[in-house]
Amino acid sequence: LNNGEKLGFEAEVSRLLHMMVHSVYSDREIFLRELISNASDACDKLRYEAQSDAALMSGGDFSIDLTADKNEKRLIIADNGIGMNRDDLIANLGTIARSGTAGFMDKLTGDSKQDVQLIGQFGVGFYSVFMVADHVTVTSRKAGDTAAWTWESTGEGSYTVKEAEKTEAGTEITLTLKEDAVEFLDKYRLNQVIKTYSDHIAIPINLTTEETTPGAEGEDDKVELVTETVNEGQAIWTRSKGDVTDEQHEEFYRHVSHAFDSPAHTMHYRVEGMQAYSVLMYIPTNQPQDLFDPARKNRVKLYVKRVYITDDSQDILPSYLRFMRGVVDSEDLPLNVSREMLQNNPTLKRMSGAITKKVLGELDKMSEKDAEKFETIWSAFGAVIKEGIYEDFERRDQIIKMARFKSTHSESLTSLDAYIDRMKEGQESLYYISGADVNALKKSPQLEGFKKKGVEVLLLEDAVDDFWLQMMPQYEGKTFKSITKGGSDLADIKSDSTDDETSEDKVPEGDLTTLITCIKEVLGDKVGDVKTTDRLVGTAACLVADENAMDMHMERLLKAHNQ
Ligand code: ADP
Ligand code: MG
Repeated sequence: LNNGEKLGFEAEVSRLLHMMVHSVYSDREIFLRELISNASDACDKLRYEAQSDAALMSGGDFSIDLTADKNEKRLIIADNGIGMNRDDLIANLGTIARSGTAGFMDKLTGDSKQDVQLIGQFGVGFYSVFMVADHVTVTSRKAGDTAAWTWESTGEGSYTVKEAEKTEAGTEITLTLKEDAVEFLDKYRLNQVIKTYSDHIAIPINLTTEETTPGAEGEDDKVELVTETVNEGQAIWTRSKGDVTDEQHEEFYRHVSHAFDSPAHTMHYRVEGMQAYSVLMYIPTNQPQDLFDPARKNRVKLYVKRVYITDDSQDILPSYLRFMRGVVDSEDLPLNVSREMLQNNPTLKRMSGAITKKVLGELDKMSEKDAEKFETIWSAFGAVIKEGIYEDFERRDQIIKMARFKSTHSESLTSLDAYIDRMKEGQESLYYISGADVNALKKSPQLEGFKKKGVEVLLLEDAVDDFWLQMMPQYEGKTFKSITKGGSDLADIKSDSTDDETSEDKVPEGDLTTLITCIKEVLGDKVGDVKTTDRLVGTAACLVADENAMDMHMERLLKAHNQ
């Protein structure tokens, strides 16, 4: 065995650790949640790998074992999961690899008080151990390897990695607790923390502590080690709906999604019959970090009969529901299904179709029964759900019906049905203006005439709007019409304002014709045409696109993408 190699933390990690070491954060008990969550993930990963290589499972049943040693002020967390080799240790515990931590770093303000609050919102994974420990060793052996490695650090600037001995695969993390953190050696305190944050973990969490019984007259006190299993150890999605509390959902949501907000909506149900599966899925409150990544990846975890298979299958839900988090557990897929086999698997396809239907059905129901909640969810994820209008032919009508938009009518969102109810006499089209910034849109001169006549205009602010509009030019027999395109048909619409322009306001036709000729001469072929319009009231002139041309916003959008 060598003395190991001293390595520096990535600069960002150093910055983070400095905060951990020096912060006085009241909820620092979350370090245990993070370690147990990692241990559970590690067991899931090994269970999956062992499906195709049984030899990897050398140890017994999976468990997470905590030992509190009051004499040495040490807390040990051990698991018999997948383990880490030398490269894994360096990559996982020396850099900011996880998206959650990167998100945390982005949000840092430099003001230590505010930043410490953020720890609670984000959690910071493994690194949170440095809130309670001044020395940490991680000894790990990767399943299938014979070599083991120890990672060691005080959280200040650097860490060492050296060869170690370990008889079984898995990871053992030893925390030497800070003087002011010895509460985390106390059996009752540990019990309480584990119950609060980790009760949903599907493998047993065993806690070993010393129990002292006073000795009889003239004899020493008797100290024994006592081990107890703290959690239920039952996968939360297999419990019946009524048995899971909101707090347990929140903790499970954070565990599966590696996020730190609370679920905005929970779906927990079981299907039996032709197909059997359980679903425990959540709609997050905040947009996940990777929501607008070009990869548009799904993160729902697939289990088969309680065995974790993958969180990287793009076939569980369509991309336009990629904000959903949680677990789907199938009874019908073969246990030895490989990730590759999942592609175009008919069983998975059927299940996916049924779950998608259920999610949209649930949203539909919510839009009627709890409009406020629905609008909050729509504000966070509507831009993604609208991708379904051009991607999911089968459900496009359902999606557009539930879609909500900003409009000139009021500050709140409107459905297209509600817009239609408010349409003016003689109005044939659904008017919209699109652009990235609603406030700028509201100031568009093109809106003036519509405002004056009291004609509502939809304010479409998502890039995706221009795309689905191409696929779906009509709704309920009415055509979507961009007010920055072609002539406006305002003249046909009955106005409800009484101060309609009187004859004195009208400019004689002849004068206008002369003016237009002049403008055309000056602008030459910089413009296609110059016309009079009734869409303007206070402004003298505005740009519009030709009836058959691309909408102006669309044109800008495509230009931005070099199309
Ligand atoms: P996250 O769990 O969100 O990925 P963490 O900071 O908690 O972030 O952990 C970083 C990585 O370290 C994990 O993704 C995992 O690869 C590895 N890791 C941490 N703890 C363990 C463990 N007990 N067994 C195996 N790998 C682990
Ligand atoms: Mg983690």
